[in-house]
Amino acid sequence: MSELGQGKIVKVAGPVVVAQGMSGAKMYDVVRVGEANLIGEIVELNNDMASIQVYEGTVGVGPGEPVVNTGAPLSVELGPGLISSIYDGIQRPLDKLYALEGSFIQRGNALPGLDRDKKWQFKATVENGAKVVAGDIVGEVQESSLMLHKIMVPLGVEGTIEGISDGEYTVDAPIATVKADDGSVSEIKLMQKCPVRSQRASKQRLAPNRAMVTGQRVIDTFFPLGVGGTACVPGPFGTGKTVVQHQLAKWIDADMVVYVGCGERGNEMTDVLTEFPELKDPKSGKPLMERVVLIANTSDMPVAAREASVYTGITIAEYFRDMGYRVALMADSTSRWAEAMREISTRLEEMPAEEGYPAYLGARIASFYERSGRIECLGSPSREGALSIIGAVSPPGGDLSDSVVQATLHVVKVFWSLQSRLAQQRHFPAIDWLTSYSFYKQYLKECFDDKAMAVEMDDMIKEAMSLLEKEADLLEIVRLVGAEAISKADQIALAVAKSIREDYLHQNAFHSVDTYTSLEKQYAMLKVILHLYKKGLEAVEAGINPVDIFKIEAMEAIARAKYIPESEVSKIVDIANQIDNQIAKL
Ligand code: ADP
Ligand code: MG
Repeated sequence: MSELGQGKIVKVAGPVVVAQGMSGAKMYDVVRVGEANLIGEIVELNNDMASIQVYEGTVGVGPGEPVVNTGAPLSVELGPGLISSIYDGIQRPLDKLYALEGSFIQRGNALPGLDRDKKWQFKATVENGAKVVAGDIVGEVQESSLMLHKIMVPLGVEGTIEGISDGEYTVDAPIATVKADDGSVSEIKLMQKCPVRSQRASKQRLAPNRAMVTGQRVIDTFFPLGVGGTACVPGPFGTGKTVVQHQLAKWIDADMVVYVGCGERGNEMTDVLTEFPELKDPKSGKPLMERVVLIANTSDMPVAAREASVYTGITIAEYFRDMGYRVALMADSTSRWAEAMREISTRLEEMPAEEGYPAYLGARIASFYERSGRIECLGSPSREGALSIIGAVSPPGGDLSDSVVQATLHVVKVFWSLQSRLAQQRHFPAIDWLTSYSFYKQYLKECFDDKAMAVEMDDMIKEAMSLLEKEADLLEIVRLVGAEAISKADQIALAVAKSIREDYLHQNAFHSVDTYTSLEKQYAMLKVILHLYKKGLEAVEAGINPVDIFKIEAMEAIARAKYIPESEVSKIVDIANQIDNQIAKL
């Protein structure tokens, strides 16, 4: 048949279809399957037999129906119109699909990822006659009030710009041509296509150089995420994985966010779809969606689309990274993605490894997280971009020995361990301070303008953590031999550790002030709590009874410090004086 490979279905097994007569086809070619023209991708090739994962329901599709190879890999459309979009796993705009067909997505429907009719105001930033190479920025489109979309020369194009001018263009109209040295001419459009399964090119990978402030105290202070870093949030059901991801989407110090949602409960994605469009960007007051792209997998969508969704999401994220932006990608939950891989693998009759997952589970998870990083972008002007990835994992029963958790922990540099015990005590975020870790701790200091403050914060963080560790030991002693067994100084340590937990680490995502804490405020809060420790120790040394110290009014002020607005941080600093005065009166 055709040289690309065009065959006939011999077998249908759920999301996997086997076709023969596919000689000429390549791995990962996208094919159209059956009379219904379903979208699929070749995931296994054996002579002229191809196994195809199909992105749409295969009910009613049967042997004998045709399979047509497009010869192209699974790709996304990149250009103006991405921002604010809500896509399914293969970049079909959900809102348009729903509008067309009610809540049922009709099969075989290939709505483009980017609107073909909308016109964008393009402003050129290079002149005609300029020499350009791949990655060069040639102009801009103000895509939303929060995002300036840079138009870049696609890979493989190089030469002299001709016919570029400002104006209104649709995404597939040429904005310029590039004439190569050999005389061949390529068109540049606002839109480019890019395969999703491999990383987009960059000039150079750079090491992390600073932390990303999230405004979440337990994260920033104890377990910070680096710019271009990776983090994993595993936890049992109901421990706050989704709330952590939403808080990060809102507050993380990134220019734009890609949120890939794989709903755990049937209605969870519906929540995301209704909730996100209502969220405000806290810094600008504009809708958060003006710097967000949402990829949504509802539970009624085929598994193959869920398998593809993280690739679609990360390719879009890399594209914005390449413009020179700081991008953050959240995936909630990667366990649903791994389960999709497992189901397809089973249908392919591959040899299962642990827990039925395919043997390549670890490699796939690693290659996903390896697409994070801080980079020097291709092309000029010279610029840096970064992509950070935060994945939630929901192991059955919260068991950390689960294959997906283990494979993820091998690659990520931050581990925020959510505990049911804490969630049950309503201690949120339920991030366990004793078992979580971050390899980016040394980069927090780069986030402070005041270097002396940064150094002091570093010391305070160490002191606070050692108090929390001490608390765990002391509580064990109290449990075994009773409270009388510990010294007065240790009673002070216990009280201060409790204050660190309750007044500092505990943070209510739904309180208008408490939801975000700047680093300056984190510094002030921690300083006051540790001041109490110092003064408390001095007081017991001078013979004062610890019980009396715990009764001072300043204790109440410390507990309320988190509700003091950012503009009044000096009031937190003042609590130290109250502590001094009130202890002096004892
Ligand atoms: P998971 O995704 O792990 O199943 P969720 O993120 O849906 O859990 O959180 C479950 C519930 O826990 C939330 O509905 C909320 O009531 C509470 N919760 C979690 N984190 C916080 C937080 N930081 N502040 C206040 N409540 C929280
Ligand atoms: Mg959740």
